[in-house]
Amino acid sequence: MKKIAGVSVLTLAAACAAGFVMGSMHGRGGPEVALAKAPAPAPPASDGKLRIIFFGAHPDDAEYRGAGVAIKWARLGHHVKFVSTTNGDIGHWQMAGGPLALRRIKEVEEVARRMGVTVEVLDIHDGEIMPTLENRRIITRLIRQWNADVVITNRPNDYHPDHRYTSMLVQDSAYMVTVPFFCPDVPPLKNNPVFLFTSDRFQIPTPFRPDIAVDISDVIEPTLDALLAMESQIHEGGANGHGGLFPADPAARKQRHEQVRKSLSQRYAGLANTYREALVKRYGEERGRKATHAQAFEICEYGRQPSAEELKKIFPF
Ligand SMILES: [Zn+2]
Repeated sequence: MKKIAGVSVLTLAAACAAGFVMGSMHGRGGPEVALAKAPAPAPPASDGKLRIIFFGAHPDDAEYRGAGVAIKWARLGHHVKFVSTTNGDIGHWQMAGGPLALRRIKEVEEVARRMGVTVEVLDIHDGEIMPTLENRRIITRLIRQWNADVVITNRPNDYHPDHRYTSMLVQDSAYMVTVPFFCPDVPPLKNNPVFLFTSDRFQIPTPFRPDIAVDISDVIEPTLDALLAMESQIHEGGANGHGGLFPADPAARKQRHEQVRKSLSQRYAGLANTYREALVKRYGEERGRKATHAQAFEICEYGRQPSAEELKKIFPF
């Protein structure tokens, strides 16, 4: 992980302020060395609630993909964590580097606060994550430290290299989280978690298979309220935006806010229609047909293979 000094210092400052442990914050010798020196936090004691960890490549991916279902889990007292494997420092058309990483950390912290979940942003440059052994160790440790029952990420075939390699790294950790002498500084998990993929539109090599569809109609408003904290990405258009999207004029800003709220809502409405049959299968004809907003997940072949009974416990809504 090569570093531009300014970026490292600024993202580190944000991490410290937020009380987060970033993968590379303990030294410049690389994360393996650094993390080996740092005392590994003990995994949290079990309180009978589920522990779910979502991995996305950028500070918005886990948020979009976790959105409504995370609120549903959080409201039942289950523990949800969003992780961004990069700091998002090139994800804007106008600004980049440390200031952007800091801004995006603040945005996802606000999303997390509104959803009632935990968030962590790794200090790896946006556009540069690779499926390396060092990064496999970082992901393995994060899954263990969260004592995860369920691990969720995107599928590995995706337009963005950071998305592809994040998915690859999570899959590379799917077995290693149970192996005691891989990263022996953090206790291995006794039970291999269930690994799930979020839905996508990619067709090659295989289209997404909706093993589980979740009705999020009842939490769509708080979901939109939470996601709209990410102004740099949503209102301003992120890396492909431009200055005209979110002008200073208050009336124009209000209009843009309403427009992006509507288009976000349509995204989850589209998923309800695309995965309608899976909704009907899960909830029955009446609720399955009525659901206005949804999310869907595919069970990864690696990790624990859940029975139908266990799936009901993992998705108790
Ligand atoms: Zn992304």
